[in-house]
Amino acid sequence: TYVISQPCVDLKDRACVDECPVDCIYEGKRMLYIHPDECVDCGACEPVCPVEAIFYEDDVPEAWKDYYTANVGFFDDL
Ligand code: SF4
Repeated sequence: TYVISQPCVDLKDRACVDECPVDCIYEGKRMLYIHPDECVDCGACEPVCPVEAIFYEDDVPEAWKDYYTANVGFFDDL
């Protein structure tokens, strides 16, 4: 799955939402989240993010690794 990280917080540009072919990017209170089971790893969202907040799960920078858990956890809480 792809993961949305820190730069999205309080920004929520939403360019990625328009790009996603399977509509698996959802809006949370402070950021957007990618549904880990619905994401088809197409990568379309990554280059359109104006703040480079989106990474493939294995490529999330060390400092932002927690966002993978937050991304998955967001859907566990629904
Ligand atoms: Fe959607 Fe593709 Fe991004 Fe996954 S990688 S969130 S399927 S645009």
